[in-house]
Amino acid sequence: RAKEMGGNQYQFYTAAMNEQLGERLRIESALRTGLERREFELHYQPQVDCTTGRIMGMEALIRWRHPEMGMVAPYRFIPLAEETGQILAIGAWVLRTACRQLRDWQQAGRKELRIAVNVSARQLAEPDFVQSVAEVLADTGLAPCCLELELTESAVMDDVAHATEVMHQLKKLGVQLAIDDFGTGYSSLAHLKRFEIDVLKIDQTFVRDLTVDPDDAAIVTTIIALAGNLGLDVISEGVETQDQLDFLRRHGCRHMQGYLFGRPMPAADFLALLEQSEAALSASQS
Ligand code: C2E
Ligand code: MG
Ligand code: MG
Ligand code: MG
Repeated sequence: RAKEMGGNQYQFYTAAMNEQLGERLRIESALRTGLERREFELHYQPQVDCTTGRIMGMEALIRWRHPEMGMVAPYRFIPLAEETGQILAIGAWVLRTACRQLRDWQQAGRKELRIAVNVSARQLAEPDFVQSVAEVLADTGLAPCCLELELTESAVMDDVAHATEVMHQLKKLGVQLAIDDFGTGYSSLAHLKRFEIDVLKIDQTFVRDLTVDPDDAAIVTTIIALAGNLGLDVISEGVETQDQLDFLRRHGCRHMQGYLFGRPMPAADFLALLEQSEAALSASQS
């Protein structure tokens, strides 16, 4: 009888594993045609300077609208695309599309805006990555200082020596560098000191329970102080409530990103939000 149950259990796991494998294969093969079929789009989430109330820029976040699977969330396909290397073509498309979009918004009069773009470990490891960034900047005419590349700690730690050199080359181009999801990876303070980065992005897992969990509060205030002492900018992600905003502001974090200010949204909606916030600011000034 035990054997029978064991057998069933084995079957159960096999079915679950099969399903996982099925989803994996389905996504992997759909990814191969996604770009040419124009199934990807970028959404833009505002980043706000809470001392002025201005939208200072946005993070570009990829969305995949598949004809049968519907919207496929990044966590379902980005890791897979990294494994297969498909992230290289996708990432190149993201970078070009994001830079072109910001260039258009700047040409329409919003010169100060900047854009943050996520870079995967695979892209960072490509020998021609820096060259490809330079090309996109040249082709779009976007000023390098308006582009911020978000690198995760783990991407950088994959090959510290190489990443350090790539970051050096990117800084020579004049782009801004941010460490995304800061605090969740395993880079040491010694590394942080040597990396030529401009911004630490506090991971949203620390922000979530900030006002109720003293440990999270301690971590967040420490990261803000660390950034300040190292002369780095700091931005909090995942800010959803006024209480979180008040806490962060009180502890010296000026830059925020989160649902409180706006979800990631299509370009047209982002433009409408910009216009709305400009109108509100000028009304409050007159
Ligand atoms: P990330 O770069 O840390 O992006 C922030 C994620 O937090 C986004 O999820 C965003 O929608 C979400 N978020 C923003 N504000 C809030 C909030 O107030 N509350 C909550 N609960 N979530 C919030 P998304 O768009 O699903 O992306 C997930 C991850 O997928 C990203 O994390 C990034 O690692 C990756 N990703 C997204 N787009 C790209 C891309 O174009 N290239 C690469 N390589 N990775 C990407
Ligand atoms: Mg990011
Ligand atoms: Mg992040
Ligand atoms: Mg994250």
